[in-house]
Amino acid sequence: MAVDSAISSPLGPPTCEKDAKALQFIEEMTRNADAVQERVLAEILSRNAETEYLKRFNVAGETDIETFKSKIPMITYEDLQPEIQRIANGDRSAILSAHPISEFLTSSGTSAGERKLMPTIKEELDRRQLLYSLLMPVMNLYVRGLDKGKGLYFLFVKSETKTPGGLLARPVLTSYYKSEHFKTRPYDPYTVYTSPNETILCPDSFQSMYSQMLCGLLERKQVLRLGAVFASGLLRAIRFLQLNWEELAEDIRSGSLSSKITDPAIIGCLGNIIKPDPELAAFVSQECSKENWEGIITRIWPNTKYLDVIVTGAMAQYIPTLDYYSGGLPLACTMYASSECYFGLNLNPMCKPSEVSYTIMPNMAYFEFLPHEPNSSGFTRDSPPKLVDLVDVEIGKEYELVITTYAGLYRYRVGDILRVTGFHNSAPQFHFVRRKNVLLSIDSDKTDEAELQRAVENASKLLAKFNTTVAEYTSFADTKTIPGHYVIYWELLVKDQANSPNEEVLSQCCLEMEESLNSVYRQGRVADNSIGPLEIRVVKSGTFEELMDYAISRGASINQYKVPRCVNFTPIMELLDSRVVTAQFSPALPRWTPARRR
Ligand code: AMP
Repeated sequence: MAVDSAISSPLGPPTCEKDAKALQFIEEMTRNADAVQERVLAEILSRNAETEYLKRFNVAGETDIETFKSKIPMITYEDLQPEIQRIANGDRSAILSAHPISEFLTSSGTSAGERKLMPTIKEELDRRQLLYSLLMPVMNLYVRGLDKGKGLYFLFVKSETKTPGGLLARPVLTSYYKSEHFKTRPYDPYTVYTSPNETILCPDSFQSMYSQMLCGLLERKQVLRLGAVFASGLLRAIRFLQLNWEELAEDIRSGSLSSKITDPAIIGCLGNIIKPDPELAAFVSQECSKENWEGIITRIWPNTKYLDVIVTGAMAQYIPTLDYYSGGLPLACTMYASSECYFGLNLNPMCKPSEVSYTIMPNMAYFEFLPHEPNSSGFTRDSPPKLVDLVDVEIGKEYELVITTYAGLYRYRVGDILRVTGFHNSAPQFHFVRRKNVLLSIDSDKTDEAELQRAVENASKLLAKFNTTVAEYTSFADTKTIPGHYVIYWELLVKDQANSPNEEVLSQCCLEMEESLNSVYRQGRVADNSIGPLEIRVVKSGTFEELMDYAISRGASINQYKVPRCVNFTPIMELLDSRVVTAQFSPALPRWTPARRR
């Protein structure tokens, strides 16, 4: 059955009614993007007309775009702090949303070192589910036969807390996996996973990973696609296999579960699945004991057609490693989403990572775009920024995404910079350029320049009694190790050579830096094991001057030269590494507890 002017597919029209319907929906939404956006805004404004927030700006039930734009200011999370705090403390009045706030979603973006709390309402789950339901129909246009096997997806729940007022606060995916939408999803041959729900829902990350890997090995020939949310997560799974294959193979050989698995729900469900399979155990041992792990993914899961992981934005740094382990399997980036709102999907998911563009679905929220001018000093009260509507963005230009959601965020700056690459019907498609102000990122952590500066300052206090200061520093996200880790290059000014800081002191400086970084970083270190110990590499004195000379030789202006606080250009890294005199790692885990909510 053909769908009019649908997404161009190399394989012809969709093969089933359900897919045709989903594609038809995408067509309708994107053809009428303008009208859909107008309707979405009117719905949001009319249902929330009586909220304290909208009343404050005298919108009084008016639902047209002009009134909205003239009366409601563009804001950041910090502007909304008082309202968020009141909701967190238990104020149930209609502050932001007429619908009750059902929980907070904890963003990986931080404010004052803690995760941002995003209010959400029950029905947002339906909206997210709707976006999920569009992904496979699009994928099926490019890859056939995905109903003939399973997906091995490494999915995890993370710790949740309660706010003082009793609302749950947890990451958006934890909320989704624990919802009935996920747990009792109807059978669909295109979304059968090797991981039983019990393995995904186990809060212990070791047991969860172990049991998901075990199930993936048991069904290795059925696996048609392998995935995790982000590239870093899939690489962590490979590293896990490297560290634990012997125990996994032993479980497969004996048909019993390792004593490390104590979660009753996992024991209950895997007990029925696992049977002695010496042949498979021998195969796993044979492959995993080889020195060379190049192409390990396709060796163990030979029918894998693609890897389903996000490799856009900060995750692009993992592409070479994924290619190495998978022998260059296609990398599919299917969607673009956040705790605030799910935005859209990639209509050409088998394209090269560098060509990925996301089509924002106009029904998800009301979207506006702040033209991004990297060198402008910003705007003033007298010249407020002019926000552009979804259908009016221009190809080739960069914008910061600003959203108005059903859950009560109005003209909220997400912090993502996007570049328009084209249109699908009248809906624009965006290349994810970067997140604003992020210097370092390994997994979902995002460290900005101010946070890094503070961490260096705090750590350098330990040098005071050695009459030593940090003269210059820069940083680098080292993703060659799994998990990746932060590397900080320090050039020290040692005033008393006889009493210079020793290795022990420098390793304490590493730990002190980690203690100073935000809670998402520390959670990655402590609970998720997604970030390795921070490393300080001390370079010879004069190295940063050489760095400047190098930049100037490449055309930088002497007057305007600033030390880059993060580097990733190979010649610069080589220069720095060739000048290292000592390198130390953090000797312990920083403090992190899930219950730290103000
Ligand atoms: P969080 O609020 O923790 O869920 O993080 C959401 C943020 O992750 C987004 O605002 C983006 O910066 C980033 N992100 C989400 N999806 C993608 C994607 N497909 N490509 C690049 N970055 C993404």
